[in-house]
Parts: sequence; structure tokens; C-alpha cells
Amino acid sequence: MAQYDVIVIGSGPGGYVSAIRCAQLGLKTACVEGRATLGGTCLNIGCIPSKALLHATEMLHEAEANFAEMGLKGKSPSVDWKQMLAYKDKTISQNTGGIEFLFKKNKIDWLKGWGKIPEAGKVTVGDETHTAKHIIVATGSEPSSLPGVEIDEKVVVSSTGALELGKIPKKMVVIGGGVIGLELGSVYKRLGSEVTVIEFLDTITPTMDAEVSRQFQKLLAKQGLEFILGAAVQSVDATKTKAKVTYKLRKDDSEHTLDADTVLVSTGRRPYTDGLGLADLGVEISERGQIKTDDHYRTNVAGIYAIGDAIAGPMLAHKAEDEGMACAEGIAGQHPHVNYGVIPSVVYTHPEVSSVGQTEEELKKAGRKYKTGKFSFMGNARAKANFSGDGFVKLLADAETDRILGAHIIGPMAGDLIHEICVAMEFGAAAEDIARTCHAHPTYSEAVREAALACGDGPIHS
Ligand code: FAD
Repeated sequence: MAQYDVIVIGSGPGGYVSAIRCAQLGLKTACVEGRATLGGTCLNIGCIPSKALLHATEMLHEAEANFAEMGLKGKSPSVDWKQMLAYKDKTISQNTGGIEFLFKKNKIDWLKGWGKIPEAGKVTVGDETHTAKHIIVATGSEPSSLPGVEIDEKVVVSSTGALELGKIPKKMVVIGGGVIGLELGSVYKRLGSEVTVIEFLDTITPTMDAEVSRQFQKLLAKQGLEFILGAAVQSVDATKTKAKVTYKLRKDDSEHTLDADTVLVSTGRRPYTDGLGLADLGVEISERGQIKTDDHYRTNVAGIYAIGDAIAGPMLAHKAEDEGMACAEGIAGQHPHVNYGVIPSVVYTHPEVSSVGQTEEELKKAGRKYKTGKFSFMGNARAKANFSGDGFVKLLADAETDRILGAHIIGPMAGDLIHEICVAMEFGAAAEDIARTCHAHPTYSEAVREAALACGDGPIHS
């Protein structure tokens, strides 16, 4: 039996970051992970493998769409799917191996196996029981399905199966027009699949700023993705090689079917806390299966904390990481704070979509007076040179004080551009602060500055 100050259960971005921060703060730390490699959903079956496939297929698209115009001639690339998957797997192992290295460097013990908490202060892994003053639950989430839809990870797949299909499907139906479904749907579209997205609501990505969401759908449709909105999937009947998806249109209750070689079910994720023994311990869980915590990530049972996808809030790796650091710092006696008003979200499609802060719809609902500064990437020289003029930057600022309230970007490198605005918001900046900051030319970032100028006397290049 080993004794620790902290045992973290789960090694995803919440758990591994928390464990490293605990160790950096001088706490004797172990991390329990049942999976064969560290890094959780994010590194093994989430953020990282999906971005590898997005990158590879964006390169393919770039070659097919723009090389000839730039005078780059030669044989067009063809797809070696096995090799593309091997590249994705190498990317995963480089990253998971990196976490193992960081654990060794920070003297964190990896307790291999599935952890259970028999009582506060104790964690069992296999036949061994370890003690810890503090236990952090960072067990993440798992895909959730729909009634009548059984996932076999071969024909009817979750995102996990979609990252390692045996072959590229001719026809793919994506159930759910959220981030994961659209990212992976656009991967297969670029690989040549016919992709149809069925969404229950009347818009895709419903929490996004509505203007951006409309533009996003238009651009994806231009790339060939088909959308059936306002449709409730009734069932999926699958054989070993094919599936038939039955859905009803909500507007008239009419029933329709679609055939597919692969059905990707991307209807959301739910917290994963199976086998931990939380119910026996009396740890409070919400109706949505999230572990309830206070703002220091303490559960109602002393010495047990929870972070990441297993608790409330957006299911994002960087949100889990921030909570992991804050939880560790709180245990070490510091007074950390996660600002949930400034957590960026990004869709890594082409073009990317990113946002932070409030949407126009939220501001209207709250009755807040605001002004909008918008700038199209068509007016940005770098974007034009790089075939990336689709999209815009939209900045929302308080009508009187000019303080930035939100930003929504659809366009090249949107996922990186958003951080300038995150930093500005953390400092309580006004749109004018960004407008008066010199931005290098020619960069995509100039579009952010122009949107800030549009909140004042007007942009220069439109
Ligand atoms: P997880 O990463 O889920 O890790 C939990 C770990 O705990 C797992 O490894 C699990 O094996 C382990 N575990 C569970 N129970 C036990 C137990 N009893 N004992 C031992 N180990 C246990 N987010 C982004 O921010 N950006 C993205 O681009 C992005 N892309 C995504 C793409 C896909 C396809 C998916 C599925 C998700 C994506 N996400 C993305 C979401 C992101 O992966 C999660 O928000 C993040 O991984 C949550 O981190 P976590 O530490 O809470 O849990």
C-alpha cells in the first residue's frame, strides 16, 4: 500500500494536468489510468486523432483545389487510407508517450488499472489499496446514443469507431450536427464519401452565434455536405455492411429513410463515472450524471474532488485542463479561479470557427446594449493570397463602455485568432484597445483589428 497526498483518477487533459500541477506544488502524486496509454479521450480517441485526420484531408483538398493555380503541377495525390490511419496513430503515440515522459519527469506514479474509491482517503486499483489525503475524480465522458440506435463501432459508429474505419465509406450518415459530427463528416467528405448530416434542431451547432452558424452551414454545404434539419431519427437498422436510417421530419411528421455504409452517431457525450463507487460514498450526482462540485471542485464528501467532463460545463479539453490546475492549486492552499466567461470554443473544420464570450442572441436576451464590429476575410490580403477569403470576424462590444463582450470568427486560423480576444477580455479591454494595437501585416490577425475598428470609426479595408 502506497501513501500519497493526491491520487488523480483518470489521465485525460483534466487528470494529467492536475497531477503535474500537484507534483509541481510539492505534493506526492499518483494518477490511475485503466486505458493502455495516458492522455484520456483527448489524446487517444478525441481531439488529437481527429485533428490529424482533419489536417491530412485539408492538405488533400488544398492540393486538389489550389495547387494548379499556384503553378504547382504534377501527379495529384491519391489516398492511402491505411497510411493515413498510421500517421494518425503515430500522432497519438507521440502525444501519449509525451505524457508518460512528463509523469516520470515530475515523479508521478502511474497506477495502471481501473480505480475505485471504497471510502474517502482510499483508492483501490486491482488488488492494491492506496491512501491519499485528496482524491481527484477526472474520469471524463463517453459517447451517448439515441433510443433505437445501437452502436457496433463497425457500421454504426461513435466518434471512436469513425477514427478507425476499415475503409472509406461511399455513403455516410452523420446523426447530430454538432462539433464532432461536423469535423468528422468534413473529413470523410474530403475523402470522397457522400455525407448527409441529420440534425434534430432547425440549425446546426445551436449554441453558436446564429449569423456565424448560418454562414458555417452555407460553407459546409458548398463543400458538398448535405443537411437534413428538423429531423428526428427513429431507428437505425444495420447489417454487417450496411445500415438504413429512418427519420421523421418534425414539421410534418413524414417518415423517410436513408441508406448508408457508415452511420456516425454524434449526439453528444455523457459523464463517465462507472465503477468508482460514488453512489455508495454518497457523492452527489446531478440528473445529467455530472458529479456536483462547488467552485473549488470539492464534492459533498470531504477529500473527494471532481473536474473535467465528469462535472458541469462545456466538454472541452482546455476547460478540463484549467480545472485540473485550479483544483491542484486549491489543494495546495492557493486561491485559483477559472473564468468560465472566457473559455474559447473552436470547430476545427475548414474554415475553422471559434468563439468566446456572449453571442448576439444572448446579449439580446439579457437586454444588453451592444455594438457589432464585423470584418470579412475578403478584405484581408493574406487570406486572399491563401485562398481563404471565406468568413468574417465579428466583435461584440458594450454600446457605452466599448468593453468587449464576445467574439465570433469563421475563417482561416480562427481557432488561433480567438486568443487575442480572450486575453483582451481577461484584461477587461475595450474594442478600441485592440483597434489601437499595431498588428503585423500581412496577417490574418489584421482582420481582428479591423473588426475592432468597425466597432468605432470604421475599418480601413472595407
Ligand atoms: P477524458 O479525456 O475523457 O479522460 C478520462 C480518462 O479517465 C480516460 O482515459 C479513462 O480511461 C479514465 N478513467 C475513467 N474511469 C476510470 C477509472 N475508474 N479508473 C482509471 N481510469 C479511469 N475538446 C477540445 O477542447 N478540443 C477538441 O478539438 C476536441 N475534439 C474532440 C474530438 C472528439 C472525437 C471527441 C470524442 C472529443 C473531443 N473533445 C475536444 C473533447 C475532449 O476530448 C474532452 O473534453 C476531454 O478529453 C475531457 O477531459 P477529461 O480529463 O475530463 O476526461
